[in-house]
Amino acid sequence: MYGDFARADKCMISTIQRRKIGIIGAGHNGLVAALYLAEAGFEVSIFEKRDIVGGLCITEEIMPGYKTSPGASCFGMLRQQISERFHLEEYGLETALFPHEAVLFPDKSSIIRHASQQEPAYHLEHLANEEIANNNTMWKELIEAAAVIEPLLLQPPIPKKGVEALLREKGLYTIADAIFSESWHDFIGRYIQDEKLRIENLAFTIDDPFELGSV
Ligand SMILES: Cc1cc2nc3c(=O)[nH]c(=O)nc-3n(C[C@H](O)[C@H](O)[C@H](O)COP(=O)(O)OP(=O)(O)OC[C@H]3O[C@@H](n4cnc5c(N)ncnc54)[C@H](O)[C@@H]3O)c2cc1C
Repeated sequence: MYGDFARADKCMISTIQRRKIGIIGAGHNGLVAALYLAEAGFEVSIFEKRDIVGGLCITEEIMPGYKTSPGASCFGMLRQQISERFHLEEYGLETALFPHEAVLFPDKSSIIRHASQQEPAYHLEHLANEEIANNNTMWKELIEAAAVIEPLLLQPPIPKKGVEALLREKGLYTIADAIFSESWHDFIGRYIQDEKLRIENLAFTIDDPFELGSV
């Protein structure tokens, strides 16, 4: 990679003599890599097998009149520096921290999470206000924890204890206790009792939500 990422990589890439680079796959990682390489003066070609770019992070019409992402549903991992540097918002990029989401249950009930930049609004008749408040507290703390952890992803790794200490400094004691030792399923159970709301939140990991460390 070139650019902000690492000086060592920059040195390595400056020694490359050939100026043409081919990238297989126009997912967002391929596209971002292409942007940095083009900025560094390389002649970049991207080869995509589908007739649409974006990989798993696209919007497709899955049935007439219904558009959704067939893969990623929750946007948030693309670094702000990348969207700013390449003016992605000018090209139509919008961030929805809490997307619209519907979880359908076999008994024909559903939980519908309405989009909001702040707190999601829920539609489920049996859901108590207290449970919704607990859910919102969990997500507020997770977002605060993400703000602590995300900068660490670009630095040399620090020990787990160091990460936990940083979280405790911000008052995020529950997450500090759970982050490396609990499953996402158990972590949700610390905040939320309602079974359907727990199931709805389970959908927020692409890993096994019962696996230790999936928080
Ligand atoms: C079910 C699921 C849900 C997810 N939900 C989220 C989420 O909510 N939020 C989130 O941030 N992340 C989510 N992720 C992860 C996110 O989708 C990936 O991290 C991201 O898509 C990776 O981007 P990528 O560019 O590396 O690969 P991809 O997005 O997979 O793109 C790869 C591209 O390469 C193309 N390709 C593959 N093989 C070839 C070939 N031989 N020749 C040419 N082209 C080829 C593919 O068609 C595709 O366009 C989810 C992943 C899955 C599987």
